[in-house]
Amino acid sequence: MDVTPRLRLLLIEDSEDDAALVVRALVRGGYDVTSERVDTPATLRAALNRQAWDIAIADYTMPGFSGTVALQMLRERDADLPFIFVSGTIGEDSAVAAMKVGAHDYIMKGNLKRLVPAVERELRDASVRRERRRAEQRIAYLAYHDALTDLPNRSLLHDRLEQAARAANRDSKPLALLVMDLDGFKEINDTLGHHAGDRVLQQVASRVRGTLREADTVARLGGDEFAILLPSTDIDGAILAAQKVLQEIERPLLIDQRPLAVRASVGVACFPEHGASAETLLQKADVAMYLAKSDRQGIAVYAPDRDRHTHRRLTLIAELRQALDARQFVLEYQPIVHLRTGVVVGVEALVRWNHPQHGRLLPGDFIELAEQTGLINPLTMIVLDTALNEWAGVDTLTPLTVSVNLSPRNLQDPELPQRVGDFLKAHGAAPSALALEITENILLTDPARSMDCLQRLHAMGVRLVIDDFGTGYSSLSYLRRLPVNELKIDRSFIADLSSGRDDVIVRSTIELAHNLGLTVVGEGVESAAMHDQLMALGCDTAQGRYFAEPAPAAQTRGWIVRQGALGLL
Ligand code: C2E
Ligand code: MG
Ligand code: MG
Repeated sequence: MDVTPRLRLLLIEDSEDDAALVVRALVRGGYDVTSERVDTPATLRAALNRQAWDIAIADYTMPGFSGTVALQMLRERDADLPFIFVSGTIGEDSAVAAMKVGAHDYIMKGNLKRLVPAVERELRDASVRRERRRAEQRIAYLAYHDALTDLPNRSLLHDRLEQAARAANRDSKPLALLVMDLDGFKEINDTLGHHAGDRVLQQVASRVRGTLREADTVARLGGDEFAILLPSTDIDGAILAAQKVLQEIERPLLIDQRPLAVRASVGVACFPEHGASAETLLQKADVAMYLAKSDRQGIAVYAPDRDRHTHRRLTLIAELRQALDARQFVLEYQPIVHLRTGVVVGVEALVRWNHPQHGRLLPGDFIELAEQTGLINPLTMIVLDTALNEWAGVDTLTPLTVSVNLSPRNLQDPELPQRVGDFLKAHGAAPSALALEITENILLTDPARSMDCLQRLHAMGVRLVIDDFGTGYSSLSYLRRLPVNELKIDRSFIADLSSGRDDVIVRSTIELAHNLGLTVVGEGVESAAMHDQLMALGCDTAQGRYFAEPAPAAQTRGWIVRQGALGLL
């Protein structure tokens, strides 16, 4: 590429001849020069106003103008513009003084052959300086802004919120803070990819920004969480603004040419009702956002009576993480009994959390939270490991199957079959000694991935059980597609049996399951009546209080041994 470099030259020079000499030297040096000569402060200012310059070359002493004054004027405009003195009269002292005020070089008029190399070097240095300055400005900008959306970040929001809170206190004016979190953003990221996720965040950011006034601050707090600061706005105004924002977001976005519906939850906290400091308002808006999310109502205003609940939830998440490391989870087992023979054929592992403060917690207290936070994966690994450890190789009359409950999310983990295989090997257990219980709606999220997981587990020889059957949306024909061995009728249908109500659901489920080659378990058997009726309907196995409550491994083993010894059931 041999293009003549263009050079926009600003000459600060009283002598037209000297100016021409400089220009000629540069043209000879290969520059395509466009230049302007000025020799008074007024003409210099006009030239600076008119256009941008690549370099300034100035005489040091002119009759009506001083080179150093010219340099100062230039520096006020552009700290990086290369500046070279070319002078016939410059002495060593003046040269040093010139460099001190910020000239980059000085050249004697009688020695113009130094000019071209000096210009080349100064242009290069200037571009490096500009680059560095841009980088510094970017860094300074990013300290207070989010790179993806260009919105203010948490730090800047915090500063503005503090200022706004102070002003609101002083002027007795209201102030509202909204915290907004997108619903299901993780799924968008997981299914469409991070690139699409980023697009969503950018479009949401610009829509929210566009909905609000100039004086309002829209910030990105991180992830899919945004905050909106509304000065001079009370609770009613905040709700209106939140409604407008949600409406705007819920118009489908266009992501990679495809429409995508996005929803969000907004929490509202206001000064003076809910707090006076930036810190408190942020925290309360955050709590309100969680309330909106759990109620699926879009918008929630901070409510002190519900705060404790949410606070507890946040604490519980942190504690759940610690509990995994501290191994605070223990298993209880409930025997599963073959109805016709009374033989114990398996045990179901049910997890409990020995919480250091709250005592023994049941799955209903924490499984959903573990699912929402992804902690269900490590938790399931602990359960699998413990269950196999406590039952593999235990000597009973007939081989026992130990059942472990899976969450839908476990089947999204492509490594699950491998991990299960590793555990079986480590504990020397046959695959058929393990049953995994899944629920019907397991295929609602990413069916292909879940199905792949199930098929691999099935191929390994692990037993698969549909748990809580009848509570989901699936039909028996849908089950045909799943590689399962067994179906567990939900305890609500078993409970219906005792009330003498129609047993048609249980009866037809058992029949159809048998036609599909599946065995059937009844759960939640609490009485002899339920037991007898299930047996009469041809149900294969059952579990429930009528036989035994869930209990620690040793206790359950004792119970099994006693049953065998007494030959009961
Ligand atoms: P599930 O798999 O349907 O487990 C049976 C539940 O019924 C257990 O409740 C058990 O204690 C209870 N139960 C036992 N006998 C009777 C009875 O005669 N009548 C009645 N009404 N209920 C009875 P639990 O232990 O509270 O577990 C609740 C649910 O939590 C389980 O339902 C299962 O879906 C889930 N779960 C338990 N352990 C785990 C686990 O390790 N991982 C996962 N992902 N989920 C688990
Ligand atoms: Mg179960
Ligand atoms: Mg169940």
